[in-house]
Amino acid sequence: PGQQPRRPIRELPDELISQIAAGEVVERPASVVRELVDNALDAGATQITVRLQAGGVRLIAVEDDGCGIPREELPRALKRHATSKIQSLTELEAVDTMGFRGEALAAIHSIAEVSLLSRSAEATESHAWLLHGRTGEMTPAARTTGTTVEVRELFYATPARRKFLKSDSTELAHCLEAVRRHALARPDVSFAVWHDGKLIEQWRATAPNDPARALERRLADVLGEDFLADSVAVQWLGPGLQVWGRVGLPDAARARADRQFAYVNGRYVRDKVVAHAARSAYEDVLHGQRQPVYALYIAIDPTRVDVNVHPTKIEVRFRDSREVHQAVRHAIEQALAAPRASAAGISVP
Ligand code: ADP
Ligand code: MG
Repeated sequence: PGQQPRRPIRELPDELISQIAAGEVVERPASVVRELVDNALDAGATQITVRLQAGGVRLIAVEDDGCGIPREELPRALKRHATSKIQSLTELEAVDTMGFRGEALAAIHSIAEVSLLSRSAEATESHAWLLHGRTGEMTPAARTTGTTVEVRELFYATPARRKFLKSDSTELAHCLEAVRRHALARPDVSFAVWHDGKLIEQWRATAPNDPARALERRLADVLGEDFLADSVAVQWLGPGLQVWGRVGLPDAARARADRQFAYVNGRYVRDKVVAHAARSAYEDVLHGQRQPVYALYIAIDPTRVDVNVHPTKIEVRFRDSREVHQAVRHAIEQALAAPRASAAGISVP
């Protein structure tokens, strides 16, 4: 078979670049939910409502009471590499927002129908603005301060991707898991999830004057009272590195690793170092394929962790992963060795 004749090197059109990026960022409706809730949290929301239709394939709407987007910046929110969160390498290295790449909305916009309805806290006019992504048209609309992002007909432009979607109920379960991950990180924020017009989950914020109690309440609300009853509090305090949370007693272990939540500086991560450290802490008490349950929170100096490793930021890279491994392992081992002392409750540093 002969080689294709060589074609000239050309720059890709903007929309195709975004569609390629979307391949990395948006795997399924739950990926959109995660990005939109990230944005709501970065905007300082205290109440976030997620509305889904048909497992999120037909509609994903995320509504927040955050700072909103001023009218003149609305079209920029859908542009590639446009962000309000960082402006320099120094800021990137100490980033404390969930987002910073400025590509999620652009990517989603390239593969779905997006509209932004927003009213900025700084705006002087007494109404919001609605931006239709497809037409670029902007019209006045009613809304209190905050933002609603609507995403319709996900993957309509990329049917190959659409074919990989599972049933609505499976996609819905993934969307719920995405909200759950956020909810466990932010007990100070209220979350509600609606599906096809029905309220299916609601987790209310508790008064933030006692962060430890607020976290335990949220853990019980999201993971069930059993989780609280069958787990012990962990704590490890080091310079520039703290670990806290709750880990399940060996009896609470499950057949699947579906109740393992780990957070680094408030960001849900799937990290090999943390997972391995947890696994090894259970080495002597868990046998066979049983999977421990845990909600672990790690706070680390942002300059000692790189979050810009993966487009979805679900993976991180620790500068000193041995230190993190030891901290997590010791924290869990201590708690499991003295379950009565640790049953008392979490303290949040
Ligand atoms: P990133 O979050 O990485 O900055 P996004 O594409 O997710 O990139 O969002 C682009 C910009 O749009 C954000 O930097 C932010 O200024 C604005 N934005 C998006 N969603 C919201 C929201 N819910 N509330 C306020 N501003 C938002
Ligand atoms: Mg974002």
